[in-house]
Amino acid sequence: MTVQQTLSIIKPDAVGKNNIGDIIARLEKKGLNIVAAKMLHLSKEQAEQFYAVHKERPFYGELVQFMTTGPVLAMVLEGEDAILQNREIMGATNPSEAAPGTIRADFASSIEENAVHGSDSPETAGFEIPFFFTQEEILKRTR
Ligand code: ADP
Ligand code: MG
Repeated sequence: MTVQQTLSIIKPDAVGKNNIGDIIARLEKKGLNIVAAKMLHLSKEQAEQFYAVHKERPFYGELVQFMTTGPVLAMVLEGEDAILQNREIMGATNPSEAAPGTIRADFASSIEENAVHGSDSPETAGFEIPFFFTQEEILKRTR
């Protein structure tokens, strides 16, 4: 077991439905600590860069469009095996395949508008966390 940091985003659909609090409650209840957070409205360029890994996928254009439809809440979560833990709490990409009780099963409306993003590996987290946060913006939990 190792303490990790992972990037979480509450996507525009979930922000628009006022599901921020319910989603964060699930993350905190599982022992993930928020060590950085900011709300922002992504530009087209930011969304394109963030999802550049999916550039060749057929859904890339729609994904970029969706992610710019409203504000998002970007967070750094910290905890034991935070990357995998967060992915488990999120559930499968397609909400119709997401396990009961996961965030996507309960808050996502489609495979595209699926409420949350989470880094899928240490390498991805290493790109995604500095994409949104400077070192100074990531805080130590002192109590
Ligand atoms: P995840 O977010 O679970 O890591 P991916 O990295 O595969 O999933 O995809 C990134 C995002 O692109 C998804 O969360 C979803 O918003 C969107 N997406 C993925 N697959 C599709 C698809 N087949 N059609 C439309 N949008 C999709
Ligand atoms: Mg992914």
